[in-house]
Amino acid sequence: MDFDHSDKVQRLRAQLSDFMRFHVEPANVAWHREVAAGRYPLALIERLKSKAFSEELWNLFLPGLSDGDPGQRLSNVEYAPLAEIMGRVHWASEVFNCNAPDTGNMELLHLAATPEQRSQWLDPLLIGEIRSCFAMSEPDAASSDARNIRTTIRRDGDHYVVNGRKWFITGPAHPNCKLAIVMGVSNDSLPPTSHERHSMLLVPMDTPGLSIVRNIPIMHYHSPEGHCELLFRDVRVPAANLLGEEGKGFRLAQDRLGPGRVHHCMRTIGQCEVALELMAERALEREAFGKHLADFANVQDWIAESRLEIDQARLLVMQAAHRMDRAGNAAARVDVSAIKLVAARLQTRVVDRAMQVFGAMGLTPDTPLSYLWTWGRAMRFLDGPDEVHLRVVARAELAKAKAQAGQNAHHFVPPSQLLSV
Ligand SMILES: Cc1cc2nc3c(=O)[nH]c(=O)nc-3n(C[C@H](O)[C@H](O)[C@H](O)COP(=O)(O)OP(=O)(O)OC[C@H]3O[C@@H](n4cnc5c(N)ncnc54)[C@H](O)[C@@H]3O)c2cc1C
Repeated sequence: MDFDHSDKVQRLRAQLSDFMRFHVEPANVAWHREVAAGRYPLALIERLKSKAFSEELWNLFLPGLSDGDPGQRLSNVEYAPLAEIMGRVHWASEVFNCNAPDTGNMELLHLAATPEQRSQWLDPLLIGEIRSCFAMSEPDAASSDARNIRTTIRRDGDHYVVNGRKWFITGPAHPNCKLAIVMGVSNDSLPPTSHERHSMLLVPMDTPGLSIVRNIPIMHYHSPEGHCELLFRDVRVPAANLLGEEGKGFRLAQDRLGPGRVHHCMRTIGQCEVALELMAERALEREAFGKHLADFANVQDWIAESRLEIDQARLLVMQAAHRMDRAGNAAARVDVSAIKLVAARLQTRVVDRAMQVFGAMGLTPDTPLSYLWTWGRAMRFLDGPDEVHLRVVARAELAKAKAQAGQNAHHFVPPSQLLSV
């Protein structure tokens, strides 16, 4: 594996770093002030978006863009260091049209949309004109197993009718969110274990019967675009709004989550770098008991361990990205699970250390740390909880062991052999 950055990526990294330094970071205080004042969506984001678009720092995430689509056509390996830079400011990826959940939705539409669906939804998403959400999780179903989803998608003549309740759906509170990609049961005659019971449907947000019940705070943090509870009551859309084939919803959900999960992890690396930088700076300037915090051995250990763990996680991100590029998303499934788990745990661990070095200030909104910790904790659920990813890794290892049964016999030396020496 060669992870040296190509000339193109080196140029993009420099360009993106400058953009962050001169345009995004100086706008951070205004972003927080405007959001606190309830002025959302922000004019400043739209201004930054058009600047990023004109500088072609746009749609950096999608390798398979079609001819004429705006974007850089980067591989996952090429995208990773750029996502890391964007991750340093938590709202920045939207500026470059690289924010979740729109990126995953664009991947999905790119994969499965008809030409009509493409021009109605994908084209406006690709130019950042609209936003979208992905509605799978439900309050009444253990949503880490997508087969549990109960919302119904029933065929009625030339239409589908949707009934159900979703929650923790990211994005619907943004006024530009015009589309929900909804997962539901379209064939309830199949057994609950079947992977063919579910379908995906494109539901315009203004369809009668679809309502936002509430924006759910994540550990008291209110995201302006929302992690929302949605109610679907006899929501009727044309049959042409089916995404892909009937019964293939589970399959599409798997395809969607691969790259999206790794994008979160790439940004996590950037967020952890910020936490480490803040921790080290604070340790150098703060004094207690006659010396700088940086002179205490335990603080040095926290800094060193954070450096090592971030670098390990970055390599795992690159390995997953490399496998996706080389062998496809399905072949990289175990790598994606591995890094999803490692990155989510890393974020809470590194940020927790930084908070400790900051003292009580680490818990306030005066630094990004409390938000970054909250997001790290949320990462341990979103796109699948840790335990589901551990299971994927464990199953792969056990399958390997089964296939190699007996091959390790030579490692065992019976005591009788030792005694005879
Ligand atoms: C900030 C945030 C944003 C989100 N955005 C979206 C979104 O945009 N769209 C969307 O559809 N969903 C979204 N989600 C929901 C997220 O995908 C679900 O929370 C996640 O899939 C877990 O489902 P659940 O909460 O129902 O937990 P459950 O499925 O009820 O699981 C509960 C716990 O059971 C344990 N468990 C589950 N399976 C196993 C297993 N195989 N082995 C051992 N233990 C297990 C785990 O400890 C798990 O935490 C978001 C969540 C958060 C926090």
